[in-house]
Amino acid sequence: MTGTRPTPTGIGQRYQQTEKYRAARKRHYEKNREAHLERVRQWFQDNPEKKRVYDQERRARLINAPAVPFTAVELDARLSMFPGCWVCGGDWDCIDHVKPLAAGGSHMLSNLRPICRPCNSRKHAKWDGVEGLVA
Ligand SMILES: [Zn+2]
Repeated sequence: MTGTRPTPTGIGQRYQQTEKYRAARKRHYEKNREAHLERVRQWFQDNPEKKRVYDQERRARLINAPAVPFTAVELDARLSMFPGCWVCGGDWDCIDHVKPLAAGGSHMLSNLRPICRPCNSRKHAKWDGVEGLVA
């Protein structure tokens, strides 16, 4: 390996790779665990749209749903294709897996549409096939 590129903190990459550094980081984390978790909570509170994406990805992973990764920007572009809740046309505040993950749907952009909470509750994990999409 030739040379090390300094990180913004001025610590060389070679140093970062050492056991001593990892152990120190682990000790620091354990000592400051609560503060760290609080920072994460705060960040998610400040970035609700990223939290939404994170939660959906996590859920999809948990039930092993097929997934095609996408970015928050791509998701915004997808959702902006719809003037409102895709069921009733009203304001939306949720994102729907049109074919539910529980019914074998994929966590991918083409399966996501904006939906309002009441419509989402009514729909739940129902899936009547493509014909069922026509209200
Ligand atoms: Zn609706």
